[in-house]
Amino acid sequence: MTDAHLRHRFHRRSLEQQRPLSTVTMAFTVFATLLFVLARNLVAGPAIALSYRIACVLFLGLLVTGVSKARSTAVFGSLGVAYTLVLVVVIALNISGLEQPMLWALPALLVIPICSAPLWLTPTHFFAGTAIFYVSGLPLLFRQPQIHDVNVVAWLWVLIGAPTSAVFHFGFYWFRRDHFLLENRLAQLAATDPLTGLQNRRAFMEQAERRLAALGESTKVCAIFVDIDSFKSLNDQFGHAAGDQTLSEVAQVLMDQTNAQDSVSRIGGEEFAVLRRGGLASALELAERLRGAVACIARPDGYVTASFGVAEHRVGESIMALLDRADEALLRAKQSGRNRVCAERAIPLDPLQLLGNGNPGDPNDPAASVRPQWDGYYLTSHFQPLYSLSHQKQVGFEALLRGEQSDGTLVPPAVLFAPRPLSDEGALDRASHAVHLANAQRLIPGEAWIFLNILPATFVAKGYADQLAGIVRLAGLEPDKIVLEILESHGGSVDEMSRAAARYREHGFLIAVDDFGAGQSNLDRLFRIRPDFVKLDGELIRATIPGTQQSILPKLVSLLHQAGMLVVVEGVETTEELILAVESNVDFAQGFLLGRPAAQIAPPDSVNRLIDRSFDVIAQGRAHLHALFESKVEPYRFALRSAADALLSGIGMDDAFADLAQHELCISCFILDDRGRQIGPEVPGVAGGKLGESLEPVADPRDARWDHRPYFRNAVLLPGVPVASSPYLSLASGRPCIAVTVAIQSPEMRSVVGTELDWSAPHLPWPASE
Ligand code: GH3
Ligand code: MG
Ligand code: MG
Repeated sequence: MTDAHLRHRFHRRSLEQQRPLSTVTMAFTVFATLLFVLARNLVAGPAIALSYRIACVLFLGLLVTGVSKARSTAVFGSLGVAYTLVLVVVIALNISGLEQPMLWALPALLVIPICSAPLWLTPTHFFAGTAIFYVSGLPLLFRQPQIHDVNVVAWLWVLIGAPTSAVFHFGFYWFRRDHFLLENRLAQLAATDPLTGLQNRRAFMEQAERRLAALGESTKVCAIFVDIDSFKSLNDQFGHAAGDQTLSEVAQVLMDQTNAQDSVSRIGGEEFAVLRRGGLASALELAERLRGAVACIARPDGYVTASFGVAEHRVGESIMALLDRADEALLRAKQSGRNRVCAERAIPLDPLQLLGNGNPGDPNDPAASVRPQWDGYYLTSHFQPLYSLSHQKQVGFEALLRGEQSDGTLVPPAVLFAPRPLSDEGALDRASHAVHLANAQRLIPGEAWIFLNILPATFVAKGYADQLAGIVRLAGLEPDKIVLEILESHGGSVDEMSRAAARYREHGFLIAVDDFGAGQSNLDRLFRIRPDFVKLDGELIRATIPGTQQSILPKLVSLLHQAGMLVVVEGVETTEELILAVESNVDFAQGFLLGRPAAQIAPPDSVNRLIDRSFDVIAQGRAHLHALFESKVEPYRFALRSAADALLSGIGMDDAFADLAQHELCISCFILDDRGRQIGPEVPGVAGGKLGESLEPVADPRDARWDHRPYFRNAVLLPGVPVASSPYLSLASGRPCIAVTVAIQSPEMRSVVGTELDWSAPHLPWPASE
């Protein structure tokens, strides 16, 4: 046995095997010695005092108890040597004064080395113990009265005793050794995966359990679960031999990249596990290294890749539970595209702990804010105010999650929300709600809404509506003060979302759809979810109807209002945008101009004045625009009035409209009967000739009825007064027009006389929408 470690194990093993046998044999010797001592007392003649000899027997008894407790082979051997020496002393004391001492001593001297031979643990012990026994026995022999030929006796004693005891010792020793080596080999085979030579699952689990049980409180251990990607396809396409070869190569990579203290195992099929001492960060680093190394192994159709799940052991957790968590992380690595490392989910924040003390803390004390730790950052809330434009006051606050480093510097949102192995979007989303509610409890005035962002996947998650309602109440708030802002992102079908929305509504929550106008948003999604609020993407403020300077915001707002939704615009950064928001009839606005997100709530005074001024600007603008429009339309009113008078006095259409048709913007002049149908042909105006091709199928106005148009109805309401319409899209010309019309009553019939004006030039004023 050349391996020192193996030899050591063998000796330990021998110690355990020999201990009971040695104890029994030695105890028997103590008993025999006692009889020997007592028998000596039956013989007459001078003798050493009995008490000395009994003391020796007691000492032997003490050595027996020592043997039953010996921890090391050296102690065991020393006890054996002491035992033989004491035996020689007892014999010497016992035979002193006898007439034929040899008769008493020889049997004992012969039997002792032979009987004790198998009990020596190692040849060294045997040689040392036997030599000491003979060296101390020989003087005893020669000091006795020489009634026999002592030399012959001594030779006989040594020549019979020593070889016999050697045969006994080595016979037992080799038997034990062979047995040990066989057992060792079998154990090794039972613990090893034959293909890769790694520990198999059973051995790994046993070893891991032992390691975890011996773990100190502060010692960290992590498990890495590895699964080769698309391994089945390798087997299926290139045969099982190729698969086996890959398994061996991956196993070799795992062995090369880990150290002797790490346990590495083939857990089954194409799955491996590594147990390593150290924290999550170092295990993730190792996993990343392993991933890189595995990705360098070639397979016939490219390169082998593997996915990794990493979890850190929690106090008191079993290896099974630890591997389950690593496996769960592995599953996410597979789902998110394979060939990657994912860490376990971070422990979800406990809302009870964040909110539990029920003491909201001083709103003016920044130190009172709730800042739980998460992924090496501290999570905290910033609140951005939302203003009601009509009321000119703060009516709500959007809670935004911020990450801080321990020195208080903010982590950019891109870093906080970046997909990292450790962060799980859903868990972070839920954690953010608890953090925001805990902070809102302290900061947000009672009557204001709190807008919480929520991922669609979290929104539709089973049971979350009840759970969130519980957290809200725990924070001392009511769900009807909470607006859930469904983020613009994947996860959750429209059907699921609308069902989930109903569950949240039952609790009293209000619902908003975020970022309408960007990405996934469409009207169908909006009308199915039926949110209470629609938040318009900031870009929509700046968007205009193509080819015109007209903002699309007023029309969109009016559509959403008709569907029963309140409208919020986000991203208001300039006074112009604020004015446009007010003008478009938007209900609420939010943006840097009105207030940046902050850890404290800013007083609203200056913003109130800002909104008030916007209203003033719009009122002035509206009056100015009205005047401009009127001045532009006035000549046409006048000309139309004259044309109508001419018609009433019996002048023909062409002559009656001649002046009006020469006006710059006039496309055509027409007469409609009291049901809105055109009478006679229309008279073309100068602007009509400049138009390109009209919309062919609807080009002839005589096919149509026009009594539904505002310009017809408004004219009928005010007979004799020329009225101007708002701009509308003309079917005849396909461009923005306005109509100036007047209702007249001739003796025969009532009719509406009108003209259509080309209002497509950008410099023309558009009256404010109604
Ligand atoms: P995924 O990327 O999702 O992990 O896909 P996969 O194909 O790697 O996983 P799957 O579990 O479907 O396939 C595992 C295959 O491993 C199925 C089995 O035939 C094969 N396998 C298991 N043990 C051995 C083995 O000892 N040798 C060989 N050659 N193949 C094995
Ligand atoms: Mg598998
Ligand atoms: Mg696999």
